[in-house]
Amino acid sequence: MIRFLLLDLDDTVLDFHKSEQLAIEKTLQEFGMEPTEAVCALYSRINREHWERLERKEITRPQVLVGRFAVLMETLQVEGDAAACSRRYMENLAQETHFLPGAYEALETLSKHYQLYAVSNGNLRVQEGRLAKANISQFFREIFISEALGVDKPDPRFFRLVFDRIPDFDPTEAMIVGDSLTSDILGGINAGIATCWINPKHKPHPAEIRPDYQLEALSQLAALLQN
Ligand SMILES: [Mg+2]
Repeated sequence: MIRFLLLDLDDTVLDFHKSEQLAIEKTLQEFGMEPTEAVCALYSRINREHWERLERKEITRPQVLVGRFAVLMETLQVEGDAAACSRRYMENLAQETHFLPGAYEALETLSKHYQLYAVSNGNLRVQEGRLAKANISQFFREIFISEALGVDKPDPRFFRLVFDRIPDFDPTEAMIVGDSLTSDILGGINAGIATCWINPKHKPHPAEIRPDYQLEALSQLAALLQN
């Protein structure tokens, strides 16, 4: 029986896509770049590539945060301070908190029956700002942000640090729930706990990363766990 739920935050509980979109539009405008659909799509691609490189340990977190803006500016041939742009983006992002449909209610329900722990690869200040604004900290026994832990999902050390902090933890009674195959699901598999992939668009998964369960949204989790 599952007792411990490790929940990813971005695009599992919070609508990161929407927050990112609004924060990036604001930031680009502030740095003299017109946030057209094409420019925002370009940023998204560059950003994703940077996070994937971090997951493969090719670059560090600070290199992700600044590098994505440096590459964007270079690609758009815009002069600017990528580090300042990154700092401003973080400030803007911390102000944006939007829930995925039904996610707040899901946390409310789940927290009555399970021990909830947040496990996020985010930036500490940004995530703390957004959690405070979202007013959901009370649903979690503890919130684990990778920047504070010094290691990111899917690194087994991230999971070991989390497990060590949970009283009476038993991996056979734990499940990670998240939207990322490469950080949440792969990390959970390697850490020996059950995995549930939030997959709203019914994307296929590669043979080597096989989640135990799949849901379209967190709002379906309570029903899954009851069965
Ligand atoms: Mg996520």
